[in-house]
Amino acid sequence: MALLEILHFPDPKLRIQAKTVTKVDSNIRRIINDLFETMYDAPGIGLAATQVNIHQRIIVIDVTENHNQPLCFVNPKLIAYTGNTCSEEGCLSVPGVFEPVERYAQITVQAQDHSGKEFELTAEGLLAICIQHEIDHLQGKLFVDHLSSLKRQRLQKKFQKPLNKAIK
Ligand code: ZN
Repeated sequence: MALLEILHFPDPKLRIQAKTVTKVDSNIRRIINDLFETMYDAPGIGLAATQVNIHQRIIVIDVTENHNQPLCFVNPKLIAYTGNTCSEEGCLSVPGVFEPVERYAQITVQAQDHSGKEFELTAEGLLAICIQHEIDHLQGKLFVDHLSSLKRQRLQKKFQKPLNKAIK
């Protein structure tokens, strides 16, 4: 297992569309293990492969405090959704920023597990929000894209500053 480096906004690599995983083999299982290790270490409640510069459709999630409900989704797809909910979200790729985002309140996701077996899961609350947030990452989308363009521009400036300083 290995800790992977998490990309930070506004890195353009966060905008790359992840590819469908064609076969869940030992290589994919190694990526899943590394994603879990990196997520728990951060610490975070969800991590998409895109965030560690691996552009395959894989996400890992554990919304429990005791880290005892690890969920992995390979090729996740929303197949049903209903209702609306709005809550503050943060992201390991946008450290220190928490903003309200609107999401579906209840979703059903279809995916494959670490052995390649297909499953469906219906979720609500924090888990539903987290799944939507992570699937967005696989499409090159960040939670800040849900904010007003003014807010997003302000964030972009804020995150580019330390980088400019480092170059000087
Ligand atoms: Zn995120």
